[in-house]
Amino acid sequence: MTRKGLFLDRDGTLIVDQVYLADPAGVILIPGAAEGLERARALGYQLFLFTNQSGIGRGYYTREAALRVNARMEELLGLPGPVFADTCIAPETPDQPAVYRKPSPRFILETIARHGLDPSQCWMIGDSEADLGAAQAAGIRAAAVRTGKVDPDTFAAVSSGSVPVFDTLAAAVAALP
Ligand SMILES: [Mg+2]
Repeated sequence: MTRKGLFLDRDGTLIVDQVYLADPAGVILIPGAAEGLERARALGYQLFLFTNQSGIGRGYYTREAALRVNARMEELLGLPGPVFADTCIAPETPDQPAVYRKPSPRFILETIARHGLDPSQCWMIGDSEADLGAAQAAGIRAAAVRTGKVDPDTFAAVSSGSVPVFDTLAAAVAALP
């Protein structure tokens, strides 16, 4: 079994970020997402989905609704399943104590242990500073993508040059070793 792990943010990275998306019918893939994931698997990466969903903690929708959105995303990706070896849906709001909520590295660290991954061969790709922060706290590398709501060139980790930035997930995966 491969020891390479790719941690993926969902909203703004794999699918279009729509605030508090709870309706599977509203899922829109970001162009190239399926090809990017397919390429990552061909490179030997196990895929892990790591998404903050504070809408659950706020009571806007349920964990089951978030799972239905994930299922619709996987349906649209059209890849042989299971696409993700593990998934973390962090339900906390920013005001609640963070257990798994990014930038907490907990899911990444637990996944590295559970799946026997080599941290030096693990990456996190996301569109927010919380994604980059979780990767940094877990001791793995990160890449930022420009498909979210915020220009990642404004992130300190990007402007300092410690995290590379790409137009899309597909472009980020194309640069993975
Ligand atoms: Mg995001």
